[in-house]
Amino acid sequence: MFHTSFIELSESAVKNNVQFIKNLLGKDVTFSAVVKGNAYGHGIENYCPLAHKHGVRHYSVFSADEALRVHQSLSDKTHTLLIMGYIENEELTWAIENSVHFYVFELDRLEATIQIAKKLQLKANIHIELETGMNRTGFDLKLLDDLLKLVNENLDCLSVEGICTHMAGAEDIINHDRVTSQFESFKVAQKTIQNLNWMKPNYHVASSAATIRYPEMQMDLTRIGILQYGFFPTQETLVHYLAKSDLNTNTLQRLITWKTRVMDIKTVKAGEYVGYGTSYFTNKLTRIAMIPVGYSFGYSRSLSNMGKVLIKGKRLNVIGNINMSMMAVDITNIEGIEKGEEVVLIGRQEENEISVSSFSDFSQLINYELLTRLPQDIPRIITQ
Ligand SMILES: *Cc1c(COP(=O)(O)O)cnc(C)c1O
Repeated sequence: MFHTSFIELSESAVKNNVQFIKNLLGKDVTFSAVVKGNAYGHGIENYCPLAHKHGVRHYSVFSADEALRVHQSLSDKTHTLLIMGYIENEELTWAIENSVHFYVFELDRLEATIQIAKKLQLKANIHIELETGMNRTGFDLKLLDDLLKLVNENLDCLSVEGICTHMAGAEDIINHDRVTSQFESFKVAQKTIQNLNWMKPNYHVASSAATIRYPEMQMDLTRIGILQYGFFPTQETLVHYLAKSDLNTNTLQRLITWKTRVMDIKTVKAGEYVGYGTSYFTNKLTRIAMIPVGYSFGYSRSLSNMGKVLIKGKRLNVIGNINMSMMAVDITNIEGIEKGEEVVLIGRQEENEISVSSFSDFSQLINYELLTRLPQDIPRIITQ
């Protein structure tokens, strides 16, 4: 009630995917579940407790607001939480008091951390991010000696929990030279730090793609996002995985099913346009079903005249332009559809399935973007 569509999340798929990821990882490698972007659209408050129930104890987010939501969604506080991106200096007090780990990648944050941790008389759990060639965030390696000196002088209030970097596109073979040279630079820095002997951080560089393509990059911890939701980063990564593991099927399972219902049905005579503009013209008597989902719900406007939905187990065409809050589906060839009939936008119905990836192939959005566009206020329901 009081919503036009809803999203089901499959608990058995979560369990399956967590096991899948554990099987990919070396014995002592920690799995950090990346739940930024509202857990890739699945809903932080819905996904994290499920992941927790199936054994996940390490979570990574982009920013402090997401960290707060993860923290509040997990009641027993046995988890480690890592902020990989944005945290304001004013939020550092909260992070330090709650033992939340966070990246430092520039001096201002490091100095503010030292100052605040000293005042609180607590240790801040920091991960030092190094710039190895992605050219995003991270300390320049030329500054490493000075940086380590500053850290060493402040070990009363700093605990160096991690040394990390991020690979600039391990999902495409075209980036092979770039990411392997990043890894080489990272290992040089690792040697320097290991020789110091005064800290034992976790070294981490890999996301889903690097974890699969370059197992040596798993190091102490991997930050895995997209795989846990049942998707490979790219088709290429899937092919690589299947070839390497001598398998011919992908055993990851999609968590999400997105459903709505028919709101109205009408018959349009031949020779009429449907909806706004002139993009769809009926060349025969056409029955249409209106569906209460449009681009304001994350159903991309680029799926106008392209999208497919399932009704009564049949794949049916979206016709005309996607509106802000509705769209039309051609049901001419299906008998017996009535107002209130279930419509599947993503997921399975009887024998047919609409996967996020097939959907995104023709809308030219990658899985990541399509998932994270699903609005937070569509209710999420946990199913078996
Ligand atoms: C998003 C992100 C990841 C996870 O990437 P996936 O491809 O979804 O596994 C890992 N590390 C960082 C720094 C990220 O921002």
